[in-house]
Amino acid sequence: MTLALALARRGVGSVIIERKVEPDPHSRAVLLFPRTMEVLRDVGVLSEFKRRGELNAHVRLRRASDRHTLLDFDFNRLDDVTDCNFAVAIPQDVTDSILLDAVRSDARITLHSGCQFTGFEESPGDDRPIVVRFRDAAGSEHAIDALFLVGADGAHSAVREHLGLELDGKTYPTRAFLADVEIAPEADSADGLLMAAQAKSFVVSVRYAPGIWRIIEQDIPAEIGPDQEAKHAQQLAEEIFGPAAWRRTIWTSAYKKHERCASTFRRGAVILVGDAAHLNSPAGGQGLNSGMRDAHNLAWKLDATLSGRGDRELLLSSYDVEQRSAFAHDVAPLTDMVERMQAAPAWVRKLAFSNLWIGRALGHDTALALRLSMLFIDYGKSPILVADDGLVGQRIPDVRVPAGRLHSMIARWGLLLARKHAGDDVGENLRALGVPIASLPAALDERGFEGVELVYIRPDQIIGWVSRTSHVADADAVWRAMGVLNKPALVSA
Ligand SMILES: Cc1cc2nc3c(=O)[nH]c(=O)nc-3n(C[C@H](O)[C@H](O)[C@H](O)COP(=O)(O)OP(=O)(O)OC[C@H]3O[C@@H](n4cnc5c(N)ncnc54)[C@H](O)[C@@H]3O)c2cc1C
Repeated sequence: MTLALALARRGVGSVIIERKVEPDPHSRAVLLFPRTMEVLRDVGVLSEFKRRGELNAHVRLRRASDRHTLLDFDFNRLDDVTDCNFAVAIPQDVTDSILLDAVRSDARITLHSGCQFTGFEESPGDDRPIVVRFRDAAGSEHAIDALFLVGADGAHSAVREHLGLELDGKTYPTRAFLADVEIAPEADSADGLLMAAQAKSFVVSVRYAPGIWRIIEQDIPAEIGPDQEAKHAQQLAEEIFGPAAWRRTIWTSAYKKHERCASTFRRGAVILVGDAAHLNSPAGGQGLNSGMRDAHNLAWKLDATLSGRGDRELLLSSYDVEQRSAFAHDVAPLTDMVERMQAAPAWVRKLAFSNLWIGRALGHDTALALRLSMLFIDYGKSPILVADDGLVGQRIPDVRVPAGRLHSMIARWGLLLARKHAGDDVGENLRALGVPIASLPAALDERGFEGVELVYIRPDQIIGWVSRTSHVADADAVWRAMGVLNKPALVSA
């Protein structure tokens, strides 16, 4: 749905085939991080998420026994680099219904709900080279001719299966336990995540609505079966919130945790996003967040390909490389860190809770907050990012500019920032790129841009090219960052 909305904002129509008729009623992913809020801002639904979710300027990890703060992810510190300097606590059934309402009200998106995708065939020479097959609720078979097929069909993706791909990686030996519980008003503080030091396990709780908390236990004892889960949730709630705090158990789920990723996220015109492409354990809360980021990366590339501007192979292989690398470098290490903590001897976990380890080693750590926020992406090895500069591949900070924020100036094919304004000797070359040109904001100088003369920003706010001279000598690299191979002739520099 995020991808369909992002495409629709760019004027591209799509068809969604969805097996269910109504969204899944369970809370599942309950925390959306700042970068995800930027994605939702770009697809036009941020205000609804702000209205229906709980905004958290801090995500604090606090010791359950005395509520002492062990770690403080302070998103206020990100104010200079994003207008989404908060995490939003919101259950996934609400997230799904906000997206569904937006999908239903957009004439460019056709939703076939209650329909099951059954397969596809490819005829590479055709105008619309993919025939997508699906079955409706009454059992009738249908087919659609499509330009692209995107498998956003979750962990058991049938699209991935038809591609003959598997999710490679590992399954952890421990089983996670999730429970949503209602807590008495006296014990309900809106002030952050709570961690409990268990002898055998590692337990965190996050509040996602008044009085409603998600408890996440990294290793549920093997002897607890499905009919004991509600009672187990009550025991955990009483340990975390106090003996009289538990009111009721709303939902529980116990499952195996995975760290898995497909060896490629695309084959020809068939592409994978979200859980269909990668799976991680719920530790770190990156599952839904990272799937939405896939969609954001892909939307402008499909648009550039469909409009005839960009090179399909280059753009789609860049999607594959960039999002696989984001999973490997940003998502997997976070969840792995929690698993290592879980697997560590009990005394290591106790030490971590004593503020000696977490408190001193990480402190109120901005670096970890930044990673959790997903604002600090690095797509450095992408085939479209060939310019040799450390800034290339990173997200451009959304600094304040006279017109508001920098991101709001980025147009359909991006934005060019020039230290000397257009009209100088490089202006003519830059205008051929077909993107707006603006002055490089002084606020970027404090963020590593001192000495930079020219910057190309991609539509997804990633820095595609940087020049430290005011020449366009490496013009090929700018075009490549846009995914354009057949560039128009430039005026010689
Ligand atoms: C119990 C649980 C707890 C979780 N907790 C968290 C958390 O705390 N934080 C976090 O970030 N993530 C969490 N996740 C993960 C998060 O829910 C997923 O990462 C996210 O939903 C992935 O989104 P998706 O769109 O890729 O796939 P899904 O949400 O799985 O959506 C796939 C859609 O495809 C449809 N579909 C599947 N096959 C077909 C077919 N053949 N034809 C038609 N339609 C089909 C399905 O009906 C479904 O609507 C949790 C997941 C579970 C199960």
